[in-house]
Amino acid sequence: MPELPEVETVKAGIAPAMEGQRILRADVNRPDLRWPFPENMAARLTGARVLGLRRRSKYILADLDRGETLLIHLGMSGRMLVSGVKIGEFHHPHPAPAKHDHVVLHMENGARVTFNDARRFGAMDLLDTATQDDHWLIRDIGPEPLGNTFDETYLVDRLRGKNSPIKTALLDQRIVAGLGNIYVCEVLFRAGIHPKRKAGQISARRVATLVPLIRTVLAEAIAAGGSSLRDYRQSDGELGYFQHVFQVYGQEGKPCLTSGCKKTIQRIVQSGRSTFFCPQCQR
Ligand SMILES: [Zn+2]
Repeated sequence: MPELPEVETVKAGIAPAMEGQRILRADVNRPDLRWPFPENMAARLTGARVLGLRRRSKYILADLDRGETLLIHLGMSGRMLVSGVKIGEFHHPHPAPAKHDHVVLHMENGARVTFNDARRFGAMDLLDTATQDDHWLIRDIGPEPLGNTFDETYLVDRLRGKNSPIKTALLDQRIVAGLGNIYVCEVLFRAGIHPKRKAGQISARRVATLVPLIRTVLAEAIAAGGSSLRDYRQSDGELGYFQHVFQVYGQEGKPCLTSGCKKTIQRIVQSGRSTFFCPQCQR
């Protein structure tokens, strides 16, 4: 499942195809993905110019010149394919139409942006740009972890008195936006905090250390995604799922990377999700 850095990478990858460009034609090949598409979506997209792309949490938002904003969510298995335009050093020719190509945007610069989603957990919607923050998918989301309102004071305040494990609290999108399982595991490892520790029982000093670590871990992953775009050669133009080496995520049974630590990384399940951590370094 794509997390914030992957979504940021997909946004950067589709930007050259979409920003400033008019949508000449929108093929909408089915009535829904996870939820029904908005009424007349193809007609509302056709002829609209994309003013710019933004990201909010794990949603890509494309502001159109008609006062509407196209929301794109990759869900579990959604993929964006860009063709007919250069990504980094590489030009990807248009692929043959494929099964699960649910929405295809034909841009005036000759680019094509294809949303392909075999499992259909993804979503697209059209929002009134002026009131987009009130949209039901967006209104309850907490601050962006890379934004100015997410800081030490905020996080200490939000976690005070919380009985849930710190892992669960950091996954709560109302507390901080866009953090997913992979990066929460990485952050807690770097912070030396045990994932089962109750959020409200961690000292303010230790909670405060999480904020710069969250920013660093995400920034590193976004940078890795950016370099994957510059060296982008996947033949079908698929975006977003770059190789990235994690210190604990997926490393069960491997030696802990902390120098001097002789333990191996363990996996437990919390709220149905795998947690990877070092039982020695994380307390
Ligand atoms: Zn360790």
